[in-house]
Amino acid sequence: MALDPAGPDRAGRAPTAGIVATGSELLAGRVHDANGPWIAERLGELGIDVAHILLVGDRPDEMESALRYLAGSGVDLVVTSGGLGPTADDLTAAVVADVTGRPLELDEHMEKVVGDIIARFADRLRWDAAALAEANRKQAMVPHGATAIRPVGTAPGLAVPRGSDGFAPTVLVLPGPPREVRGMWDDALASEPLRALLERTAPFDETHLRLFGVPESEIAATLRAVGEHTDLAPLEITTCLRDFTLEVDLRRRPDDGAARAAHDAVVAEIEGRHGRAVFSRTGQTIDEILFGLLEGRTIATAESCTGGLLAGRLTAPAGASAHVQGGIVSYSNEAKEHLLGVPDELIAAHGAVSPEAAHAMAGGALERFGVDVAVAISGVAGPGGGTAEKPVGYVCFSVRTADGREIARDPVLPGDRGDVRERSVVLAMHLVRRILTEG
Ligand code: ATP
Repeated sequence: MALDPAGPDRAGRAPTAGIVATGSELLAGRVHDANGPWIAERLGELGIDVAHILLVGDRPDEMESALRYLAGSGVDLVVTSGGLGPTADDLTAAVVADVTGRPLELDEHMEKVVGDIIARFADRLRWDAAALAEANRKQAMVPHGATAIRPVGTAPGLAVPRGSDGFAPTVLVLPGPPREVRGMWDDALASEPLRALLERTAPFDETHLRLFGVPESEIAATLRAVGEHTDLAPLEITTCLRDFTLEVDLRRRPDDGAARAAHDAVVAEIEGRHGRAVFSRTGQTIDEILFGLLEGRTIATAESCTGGLLAGRLTAPAGASAHVQGGIVSYSNEAKEHLLGVPDELIAAHGAVSPEAAHAMAGGALERFGVDVAVAISGVAGPGGGTAEKPVGYVCFSVRTADGREIARDPVLPGDRGDVRERSVVLAMHLVRRILTEG
């Protein structure tokens, strides 16, 4: 849905941006673009809407046509990443100088800064003094009127002020390595050309709702219902299914009354219809929420079809050792019996994938690890092994606490083997959340 055109921009419009990531390896699919999405997110936080992210090869004409296309589309800012290094094929600065009609000039201060940095690499690169001096000078060439941004690696960035009708957008030129882009970002924003642009915008007000167990189609129906009595056009609404979680992000200009009304109506309707499914109102992930809930408590896992994925996820954050005691991957019946004490007869009577087996696995983990909460998963991940009674995707969960409470579920989860396993992990985490918040 579209944003309100009435932003704080003097021209009556919120600034927009385009991003160009350059590198043949990006086009070949060998490297995933880590800069475009990251820069888009940062710009979004600042209230700048990203209209395009373009991937282009290493040839100067490819960069040039991307820059001209973006300028022609009317964006206020173009951010480039890549092609800034000291080698001959790093041509972004020259192309930007050409396109913006600003001749390259030597920035003597930057020449010294770069010289000191490159000298440190010189031995490793085995460059002779002449090649080194030339590389320094190439890196320190700045389009007339632009500001050089101090490098984090070897390549300085450039901030080129807003131009004339020929090429109007402000241009920010950053190197390719994602670590360098992140390291130079604050300095880039502090440069004069970017400050001038940022003066024209204000950060969006954002609400991030996270729902579990609601299909995207239901949220679409809810939004349609709100739209019948409230104008939603001033509000930007994004819904996205990620990690089996429905993310609903609402973004609006802070000084826009109609957007505020639309926001409040949407939130009220979602809370009214799906309130139980909303587990986060701040964008916090289930992992972060569980981490907080587990403070002062201990947990252990007993996993079959997920093969340790849940334990892996629970131990991913630093500091997990404060609450995760351990986990058992009991894939075979013997492992369930010997490592968790699930009786042979129970498995013979009900099967290894059964609510009874999951209950016993959680009990075994509770007792053997001596924890406050134990979670067990046993299921048919497929593609083989399904039966009419227990089809592929049938997964049994048991979450038990030392004080005798239990939440058990045995749904048939959709998707292929990978989906069933990943979805089981996320569902298990939500069951743990539920038992910890209800207890
Ligand atoms: P330098 O030459 O100083 O390393 P550069 O600006 O010339 O910087 P590139 O040569 O384009 O950058 O890329 C350097 C490295 O960064 C390459 O390994 C490349 O794969 C990686 N890289 C470049 N752009 C991206 C991107 N958009 N996403 C992820 N990695 C990238």
